[in-house]
Amino acid sequence: MPFRSRSLGLCSGLLLVLPLALSAATMRADTPAAQPAITAAPEDAALRHARALLRSTPLIDGHNDLPWAIRESQQRPGDVEAYDLRHATPGDTDLARLRAGGVGGQFWSVYVPGEMPSGFARVQLEQIDIARRVIAKYPRDLELALGAADIERAWAAGRVASLLGMEGGHAIENSLGALRAYHALGVRYMTLTHNSTLDWADSAADQPRHGGLTRFGEEVVREMNRLGMLVDLSHVSPATMDDALRVSEAPVIFSHSSTRAVCDVPRNVPDDILARLPGNGGVVMITFVAGFVSQAVADITMPAFREYQRRVQELTTQEQRSELFKQTFAALKLPKVTIAQVADHVEHARRVAGVDHVGLGGDFDGNDTWPEGLDDVSKYPHLFAELIRRGWSDADLKKLASGNLLRVMRAAEAVARRAQATRPPSLATLESLDGPAAKPSATK
Ligand SMILES: [Zn+2]
Repeated sequence: MPFRSRSLGLCSGLLLVLPLALSAATMRADTPAAQPAITAAPEDAALRHARALLRSTPLIDGHNDLPWAIRESQQRPGDVEAYDLRHATPGDTDLARLRAGGVGGQFWSVYVPGEMPSGFARVQLEQIDIARRVIAKYPRDLELALGAADIERAWAAGRVASLLGMEGGHAIENSLGALRAYHALGVRYMTLTHNSTLDWADSAADQPRHGGLTRFGEEVVREMNRLGMLVDLSHVSPATMDDALRVSEAPVIFSHSSTRAVCDVPRNVPDDILARLPGNGGVVMITFVAGFVSQAVADITMPAFREYQRRVQELTTQEQRSELFKQTFAALKLPKVTIAQVADHVEHARRVAGVDHVGLGGDFDGNDTWPEGLDDVSKYPHLFAELIRRGWSDADLKKLASGNLLRVMRAAEAVARRAQATRPPSLATLESLDGPAAKPSATK
């Protein structure tokens, strides 16, 4: 389980970005968060326009790792009371910056590392507990949302609609009963894998074992459809994306992925998959993580990570692995990444998938390397301003902000209503569908 230290457990995790997280997280741990850029940036016409637009329509972000940041906070790990969102936090997220960013809805990631040998469900339940206690702690600012109508009601009441998204199917421990229990606790999407290939699904960041989804993996997708839990394809391999798009009765999401044609890393979405979103109805929510946005950054971090992977095999303790990690990545000099580069991903997704299939999933608090000027939850208006300068209409910007995601949620809710009327909860097991040879492995 090489990835359990503070920074190594980060959600977005992707192998390529973990290195960047380590040093930056260490540096910023004791540094007060910057104040929202609302006071720092010149308010040109496009930025004023962007702020006005985000007052008139909710911005719904697909992925924020605040619950993990709280669990791993250096001063009081896991202490929801101590990690006070009414004041500037050491991370990317607090109430003032959510307001400054125009955030109207947020999928809070209840991430669990997939590299542990066991115990996923316990940590998953603890992360759901942290997220739900955060939401309950600030009733004037946050409100639990379980569906599209809840989002709109919470936003209209001036609160940030707060949804839960699981990151990694390892947390169901091959049990559809566990999947249903997570849904009952409020989880409204599940990323099929994180960075580890599972018994039933291949990850983009691990060795493929199945060529996509197994039969049980397909049944997981169908049961998620029946429940009304969105199928999230960030982190999975292209073959898993392909299988899920074939099987899913409901639109899918990519909660935090950018485009592979613009930045060729395994975590991003290939054009042939983007081109299938209109047929499925789903949405790719573009992430801001520097290593997924900029090819120049990825070209430096990917070889470094491969070298780390080669050498880490010889080490036996977590301390040794952490030290190697620091040594490997501390000296890397990374080029700057700009808001314009994020806009390039948004526009590429619009070109290939269409404007009805693009959203935003920043991945704040899941990484430490961001484009300049797009480095916490207060900065979304700057990306909208960039798109306004490129000629985007208000109607299209509203689709990007939340219109597309709300359409996806309503469609998934309709699929669930129909499915629940026609089929009972699935009793399938891994062994019943994939055969006795599919005996669960300890970690994958
Ligand atoms: Zn992630």
